[in-house]
Amino acid sequence: MGKVYLVGAGPGDPELLTVKAARILACASVVLHDSLVSREVLAKVAPTAKIIDVGKRCGRKLLTQEEINSLLVSYAASSEVVVRLKGGDPLIFGRAGEELEALRHARVEYEIVPGITAAIGAAAAAGISLTDRRVASQILFSTYSRRPEGNALDWGAVTPATTLVLYMPGPDYGEVSERLRDAGLPPELPCVIVSNATSSQQQIDWTSVAKLAREEKLPAPALLIVGRVATQQIREIGAAFWGEDSTFAAPTENYSSGVGKPPS
Ligand code: SAH
Repeated sequence: MGKVYLVGAGPGDPELLTVKAARILACASVVLHDSLVSREVLAKVAPTAKIIDVGKRCGRKLLTQEEINSLLVSYAASSEVVVRLKGGDPLIFGRAGEELEALRHARVEYEIVPGITAAIGAAAAAGISLTDRRVASQILFSTYSRRPEGNALDWGAVTPATTLVLYMPGPDYGEVSERLRDAGLPPELPCVIVSNATSSQQQIDWTSVAKLAREEKLPAPALLIVGRVATQQIREIGAAFWGEDSTFAAPTENYSSGVGKPPS
């Protein structure tokens, strides 16, 4: 029996791969990877390894989750080092829970090698602190779902001191902007779109909840960081929009209650 490694490939820049991930890729027998994984990272895989793309193409899945689970279990029976390579961190929005369950059920030995998740790569690319203590006290990693009933986001958890990171924002920024405003987020609240963070195609678009609706779509993969930290001018914007003094005492009121909205 071999061992399955769930490895994070990081956000794009191959130098952001962990030393451990690089070592495991270099001695892999089989690598099953998502489409998010860059060519530069795949170049680190042992030349003798079998490389299988199990990701999505044009929104269509190449393999179902069940098929991927079975492949992991069957390769573990015949190969020594089986790598399940996922973009960013393997445990963030990557269906790893289902894969781990299948491995545990089949009594396959496994190990998780964390990676730098896209939110962290994007914050570094934009040069902002997701937890800037002057304006933020919590980070919420969530996804944007197009179906109102399927929205996984708990709006009650979004306060003025929350930094909201929206993975998979989809192609329609107008819709996302509307949903954010419907939830009570102020139109002037800063927002930054980061596309292909940390890669050579990186693009950053500084905007706001209201202006987001008119922004041109940036190439996938992209994510949104929404909140008072999503600007490189926290001091200036803070004073103008939020009417706070230079100490930026962390506000605790809830957006959805409508309390504490900045003057519009
Ligand atoms: N496990 C991954 C996330 C998978 S979900 C991680 O930890 O990063 C895929 C989403 O992640 C994309 O739709 C996009 O929103 C985001 N993403 C992944 N890589 C990115 C990158 N380099 N730049 C910006 N967003 C990225």
